[in-house]
Amino acid sequence: MITVENLTKSFQHNKSNVVALDGVSMEVPAGAVCGVVGPSGAGKSTLARCIALLEKPDSGAIRVDGTDLVALDGKALRAARRQIGVVPQGDSLLRQRTAAGNVALPLEAAGMAGPQRRSRVGELLDLVGLTDKASVYPDQLSGGQRQRIAVARALAAKPSVLLADEPTSALDPGTTDSVLTVLDRARSELGVTVLVVTHDMAVVRRIADDVAVLEQGRVVEHGKVLDLVAEPGSRIGETLLPETG
Ligand code: ATP
Ligand code: MG
Repeated sequence: MITVENLTKSFQHNKSNVVALDGVSMEVPAGAVCGVVGPSGAGKSTLARCIALLEKPDSGAIRVDGTDLVALDGKALRAARRQIGVVPQGDSLLRQRTAAGNVALPLEAAGMAGPQRRSRVGELLDLVGLTDKASVYPDQLSGGQRQRIAVARALAAKPSVLLADEPTSALDPGTTDSVLTVLDRARSELGVTVLVVTHDMAVVRRIADDVAVLEQGRVVEHGKVLDLVAEPGSRIGETLLPETG
């Protein structure tokens, strides 16, 4: 379970102060998929990066399975980071490494021995359906295949939480579906708790149990997708209905 309590984060930019997160609280139950939606600049990536411990919040708490991650540093922080898999926004694979080499990165960083590592990489490529692309370089993969490799890499160290920031932006609907299938398998087969940032309501409808709407650094709506769709006047309801895809 991920619990975020009253998270704040500001950035100094050109001598002015940009409030990216303005008291964000939300909860993602263990084994659930939660969508985070909202306009550009709402703070979605900042929230994901704070939960991934890539950005330090100014205040607030982030608990993953009960442990407050904001308070950690040093070795404990690095150990906590391994419990969180991240699919960053945009193209994130290393171009000079093959698909298998990209998936192996976190395992190398963790010091896993060669034979064990190769077997784990094999499992992960199988999970994302790209066993036949093991020795192919990113520029020879389609956008959807690259994102599936990024998901495999994020899952390599067996995290309990997976954060995916716009994993399907710039993909066509068919390709989007192949990436969503992989995220869905992470939850259903591995029991991973998934937070997926997206602009695309079709993504929310297809895989999310819960959804949070972020605007100007605040959660303006949060709940079960099915409840919000049925709730008169909810933003999610208005955006998701009528069925368009
Ligand atoms: P998008 O949908 O465009 O990806 P987002 O919801 O992910 O947007 P964030 O990237 O979290 O938005 O940005 C939230 C706010 O914080 C924006 O105003 C942005 O300009 C600002 N911001 C984010 N990161 C930084 C940074 N490293 N330095 C300065 N300002 C930043
Ligand atoms: Mg973003």
